[in-house]
Amino acid sequence: MRHGTGLAVLLARDRSMRIWTRKKGEATWPPQPDPLQGLLQLSKTSHGELLVFTGAPQTDLAAIKALAQLAHKVATSPVMIVVTSHPSADWIEGLARVGVELVQYCEEPGDEALSLRTAEPVSELLHRLCPALHTRGREQVTLSVCGRFHDRMVLRPSWIRAWCIRDRSTCPFWRDGKNGSHPYRAP
Ligand code: SF4
Repeated sequence: MRHGTGLAVLLARDRSMRIWTRKKGEATWPPQPDPLQGLLQLSKTSHGELLVFTGAPQTDLAAIKALAQLAHKVATSPVMIVVTSHPSADWIEGLARVGVELVQYCEEPGDEALSLRTAEPVSELLHRLCPALHTRGREQVTLSVCGRFHDRMVLRPSWIRAWCIRDRSTCPFWRDGKNGSHPYRAP
């Protein structure tokens, strides 16, 4: 990707992402008003870290990829962490291909999102992530859905945390071993 192309993508698609930067080891994550300011702050330090939250991963994918590629051009040894409320395997694999090293699931970008305690290497999350975990966008709203139910069953955050990103062997839908046709009713 040429620099100009990446910048154009960032300028066109910077509304739904939220961005923070810091120097590695610092206690706080100053928020950045937009992706270009984030890149500017990153360029001022070596071993800088850039944290991106997106609640619309498919919509923001091109912009996040552009950000990752530009981060590696403007900074020395940058680390990029991507946090999303709607992860899926193909989306994370796309990020890994442009140098994103750490990913994290989080419902909202509050303090929890800014802690690296639960951010983990892309390969580790991909190893655990259920392949049936998909995302669907409808009327500017992104949903996490289950492929076992033909992507028609919307997943609760508590299910995503307990089953989809942690241990699908404990999920009743995965254990069935086949596509379902009726939504599971939680007790
Ligand atoms: S609900 Fe179960 S089968 Fe569906 S995506 Fe999550 S872990 Fe996989």
